[in-house]
Amino acid sequence: MIDKNAQIAILGAGIGGLTTAIALHQKGFKNISIYERRDTASALGAGVVLWANASKILDRINLLSAIEKCGGKIKEMQRWTEKGAFLGAIDVKNINADIGSTSYAISRVDLQNILTTKVEELQLLIHYNHHVLQLIDHGKEIGISFQNQDEIHAEIVIGADGRMNSIARKYVNEINTPVYQNFVNWIGIIESDQPLFSANNVMDFWGCGERFGIVPINKYKGYWAGGKSLPLNAALKEEDNKEQLLEIFGHWSPKIKEVISLTADENIKYIEVYDQHPISKWYKNNVCLIGDAAHAALPTSEQGACQAIEDAWHFTSILSTSKTTADAFETFQKIRFQKTTTIAMAGRELAQSLFNTNEQFCKQRNENAMHTNYTTAAQNIAKLWAKDLPN
Ligand SMILES: Cc1cc2nc3c(=O)[nH]c(=O)nc-3n(C[C@H](O)[C@H](O)[C@H](O)COP(=O)(O)OP(=O)(O)OC[C@H]3O[C@@H](n4cnc5c(N)ncnc54)[C@H](O)[C@@H]3O)c2cc1C
Repeated sequence: MIDKNAQIAILGAGIGGLTTAIALHQKGFKNISIYERRDTASALGAGVVLWANASKILDRINLLSAIEKCGGKIKEMQRWTEKGAFLGAIDVKNINADIGSTSYAISRVDLQNILTTKVEELQLLIHYNHHVLQLIDHGKEIGISFQNQDEIHAEIVIGADGRMNSIARKYVNEINTPVYQNFVNWIGIIESDQPLFSANNVMDFWGCGERFGIVPINKYKGYWAGGKSLPLNAALKEEDNKEQLLEIFGHWSPKIKEVISLTADENIKYIEVYDQHPISKWYKNNVCLIGDAAHAALPTSEQGACQAIEDAWHFTSILSTSKTTADAFETFQKIRFQKTTTIAMAGRELAQSLFNTNEQFCKQRNENAMHTNYTTAAQNIAKLWAKDLPN
């Protein structure tokens, strides 16, 4: 068995890194350190839905009660055209029932706070301002050098350093360049004293080459994303975000105009959206990738954070029952590769459809959506998301 005193370094204090640290502690590993390039556990992005597959894992690691306090239970995933025609809806309770848990929308700040509070409670160390520059193989150990001149050694290195420039992915795969998927997202988080939402229904509006999604967290709080097909470094990047958003989406549903107008300027961000091509190996020597560093999927997959959480649980369960790290890493990838790749490819497929700018294509896509059997759609989604979860 792998020694529970083995020195474990987790690179990145994002959703995957922090969840893995908590799960490792639960399995009895004692020497866990987290290294994060930022000076605090910042919460990039507005919010996420922790679908039932992720909440099932969070329950296993005793985090669900904290999530329930801040998160909102999602009821429906509705689809609309930009002109306000209803295309159909998935009843989320069907997905929840098939997976055996509940789906919650939560702000990134709240999720990150829950994870860091737990890590601190467990007295696990997060070393902020530790920007990893290089990993060097030293036989039984890996040397890690940081921008601040620190150098450490670890017996097991978990690369949870995200999708954009993962040093762990570079070490494992040599190439770590993310792939721009030809669309941008403006994301925002909104909170008001007045009720904003009458029900916790995700509203997804489809245009042609454009899309706007709104996710309520509770009556007074929610987050949203406006997406548009655009090349990298488009002129809009430099423009006033709110002005651009109102120009593009202001004439869609009145709800969209309302949420954009009420969002504080500093809570709106412009993001060029990347994912990663699947790679055939997630590990090399004593380094194993998890989360976005291994399999970054587009936001249209709705599963990036959820899959990082699933990774954390599988990785730690496998590590705690394996004879060697080599066995553990191989088993981990074997269990996780197909599911994460299918989800990433589904995210690309939906993005290509949503951000297609051909009018005829979009008309046909909406027509198909209107005739979709949403009960079957929910069953298919649940089947994929439930794969390999604990009972
Ligand atoms: C616009 C957008 C919207 C999204 N919306 C959703 C959603 O609604 N639902 C969902 O499930 N997923 C969503 N995702 C995906 C989700 O954010 C990620 O899949 C998830 O955060 C992955 O977790 P992670 O821990 O692997 O990476 P991250 O959360 O990105 O964490 C990586 C961490 O590593 C640190 N790091 C990076 N490089 C270094 C280095 N060299 N040294 C030290 N530290 C380093 C970073 O600072 C960061 O803290 C979205 C993504 C984007 C881009």
